[in-house]
Amino acid sequence: MSTYSDTPRKATDTVQTLPRATYPFDREFYEGLVARRADFELSNSHELTEIGYGFEIAAGQAFRLTLLGGPQILDVGFLSSEDPEEHFFTGGQMAIEGGRISRFTRLWGTPPRSRPLATCIADSLAYTPNERRTRDHFSYGAHCNAHLWHLYTGVHHRPCYDNLRYGFAMLGLHQRYIHDNVNLFQRGGYDPFSGAHLIDESDARVGDHIEFYAETGLFVSVSICPNSGGSDALRESWSDTGPSDPVYPILVEVFDTGASPLGWPY
Ligand SMILES: [Zn+2]
Repeated sequence: MSTYSDTPRKATDTVQTLPRATYPFDREFYEGLVARRADFELSNSHELTEIGYGFEIAAGQAFRLTLLGGPQILDVGFLSSEDPEEHFFTGGQMAIEGGRISRFTRLWGTPPRSRPLATCIADSLAYTPNERRTRDHFSYGAHCNAHLWHLYTGVHHRPCYDNLRYGFAMLGLHQRYIHDNVNLFQRGGYDPFSGAHLIDESDARVGDHIEFYAETGLFVSVSICPNSGGSDALRESWSDTGPSDPVYPILVEVFDTGASPLGWPY
């Protein structure tokens, strides 16, 4: 006997929300760090005017990226300095934190350790809502590369891939250490229906900064993206003219916080 029925199933009247994994977060520890921010001691600083920059940071240090000239997309790759095979992991990040980064978002690394590599402890950016629901600082983009620029515009600019490669080369690491990265000061999102990758002009202004606390020793590579403040239109306008907007310099500062990481699991 057939179980087929052409009677539509009744829609459930309540929307079921799936339970979500809750990862422990010692908020008090991080609020304590923020409260003691004025006591952090500057260890070193570097003004980055173009391309890429690589630096090592010890567990318990923090680093701040500040915009010096205007809105500027920064692609940033993270590797554990204890084992550079362990790197920032977009898939895990999306499942645990979602796609956006702001104060108290942790950046998660790959299995088998599956632990936070860094925690955002400051984000000065003021968000302006828009109808595309895009927002600065996202963790599910990638880095532009020569092949993507050819597809977008038919021309090949110096891409984030080359800048990240340059940054990691400063640390003695070759290009195969370039994996997933975060996109800071990039106002992006995905269209929920088409899945299209959206980029709008960043909300960032001169002086805006974002700061991360290192949960483990890290190798960090920062790229100043040739798409400067970003937008779909800017990206597409390059086919004829090449990049019309300048890229803007940033300040990279590393601080001693005086606080050792909690370790993982807590
Ligand atoms: Zn880029």
